[in-house]
Amino acid sequence: MTSRLILATRNAGKVAELHAILSDAGLPYELVGADAYPQIPDVKETGISFAENALLKAHALAQATGLPAIADDSGLCVDVLNGAPGIFSARWAGKHGDDRANLDLLLAQLGDIADEHRGAHFACAAALALPDGTERVVEGRLLGTLRHTPAGTGGFGYDPILQVEGDTRTCAELTPAEKNAISHRGQAFRALVPFIRALVG
Ligand code: IMP
Repeated sequence: MTSRLILATRNAGKVAELHAILSDAGLPYELVGADAYPQIPDVKETGISFAENALLKAHALAQATGLPAIADDSGLCVDVLNGAPGIFSARWAGKHGDDRANLDLLLAQLGDIADEHRGAHFACAAALALPDGTERVVEGRLLGTLRHTPAGTGGFGYDPILQVEGDTRTCAELTPAEKNAISHRGQAFRALVPFIRALVG
């Protein structure tokens, strides 16, 4: 029987991305999103780091389902803001998930900051938790600099303002495949693969 792995997200795009990474690695698991278990409530992200929040979500799901669970937590870290918005990225302007308001507020806050001080990165922690409490967590980063005005229509969140290091385009100007190949989330999920292979039967 194929082992089931559960991913702590209701975002179909994330499930598809991790599914592709597991298939590329030749791992035969059946991957399901948290939507398959609607009775399980969302976990409060009470941690103070991406890794803590990813582990909280993975453990809660593994305990509730009895299945190995994977979770991620991510955000944008701006050098001149000492890593903020960080874990507050999704609710920087107050309301959770208002991408445009978050981006506009950040651009306004950085209005007087010159190009050479606009370094930033996306960070992602990916965690694996087993029902017996075993855990692993890894991190990935995508480095870049922040534009003064948004560019591009792809992606989500802060993608239109992060220009990728070594490229002239923002994340919102990359194709989904180009972004997945270099993204913080892609790197973190790929780094988790050896642990999945070793720990999940
Ligand atoms: P989550 O961990 O997927 O919930 O992402 C948290 C927040 O971080 C999102 O709402 C975005 O604001 C930001 N974020 C995380 N990853 C990305 C990305 O790849 N592009 C743009 N914004 C991102």
